[in-house]
Amino acid sequence: MTFPFFDRPLREPSQFVGFAGNRIDRQSENRSDDAAEKALADPAVRLLLLRGGRLYIKFQDGVFDPYFDVAEASRLRAPFDQAVLLGHSEKGPVVALPAGMEPEDLPETIKAIDYRSVYMQGLILPESLGELAQAGALLAWHANHRFCGRCGARTESRAGGYKRACTECNAEHFPRTDPVAIMLALRGDRCLLGRSPHFAPGMLSCLAGFIEPGETIENAVRRETFEESGIVIGRVAYHASQPWPFPYSLMIGCYGEAMSEKIRADTTELEDCRWVSRKEVQAAIRGDASAAFTIPPPGAIASHLIRAWAEAGV
Ligand SMILES: [Zn+2]
Repeated sequence: MTFPFFDRPLREPSQFVGFAGNRIDRQSENRSDDAAEKALADPAVRLLLLRGGRLYIKFQDGVFDPYFDVAEASRLRAPFDQAVLLGHSEKGPVVALPAGMEPEDLPETIKAIDYRSVYMQGLILPESLGELAQAGALLAWHANHRFCGRCGARTESRAGGYKRACTECNAEHFPRTDPVAIMLALRGDRCLLGRSPHFAPGMLSCLAGFIEPGETIENAVRRETFEESGIVIGRVAYHASQPWPFPYSLMIGCYGEAMSEKIRADTTELEDCRWVSRKEVQAAIRGDASAAFTIPPPGAIASHLIRAWAEAGV
C-alpha cells in the first residue's frame, strides 16, 4: 500500500502562479561573507537593479532585458557594497543591487517599472520574475534592518546578503518572510468573495490576512474568514503558495469548508462580501460582458484558487 499523499499528480499548482518561476540554485550552504564580491568578479555575473519598488529594465528594439553587467551598473551608480547574491543560474551568478540613479535621470533605453506592472504585463520571463521576487524581498529587508533590533547599533550584511550582523553586540539577523493566508470559502455550489476598497472597479477576490505568531495556517484561515465575513470555517485544505515581494510575504492559498451562510462583513476591511455561484464565476473567467464581476488576473494566487474550484469537473 502506498501512502495516499504521494498518489497525487506531480503538477503542483504553485508552479503556475506569478513570481514562482525562480530556478536559481541558491547554494545556501556555500554563502561565505564575501560571496557577493566573488560573484561580482565573475565575468558571467548578471545584475538585477531595483529601486523604490521598481525594477530597472533595458528596453531596446522591442526587447525587455532586466539583466545588467558590472559596467552598466557602475554607470547607474549602483552601490556595490550592498550587493546580494541570489545564487547561480545556468548563465552565471545573479546578484541584486539597489539602483543608484533615480528613475527620472535614466537614459531613454532604461525604464524603471514597478514590480506589479512587470508581473501583470509579462515583461520578463517567468524565471526572471521569480528572481525579482527574491531580489525585491531581500533588498527591502536590508533597507528595513540597518540597525540592530536588540541594541540599536548599526548592522552589516554578511553571508552574501543572507544575514546582517550587529557591529556592537554581534547579534545575527536573518531575512524574514511574512506568511499570509489567502482563502476561498466553499459551500455547495457557491464560493465566498470579497472586495477591498483598493481593488480595480468591479473586481471580487478571495479573503486574506496575515498569519499571526503561534498560529497554524488552518487556524489563520478560520480566524481571518470569520473576522472578515462572519462565516464559520470547518475543514481547511492547502492548495498553493506564491512569493509576494510587497515587501516580503508568502501567500499561502487554501480552501475552507464553510459551515455557515449568513455574512456579517467587516466593513472596515471590505466594501463588499457575498456568496457567488460557480456559474457566475465561470462567466467572470470567460470575461462575459454580462458577468456580474471580474476576478483577479491569471498569475495571481487568488485567481488560481477561484479558477481551480470553478473549473473542477467542468
Ligand atoms: Zn546589537
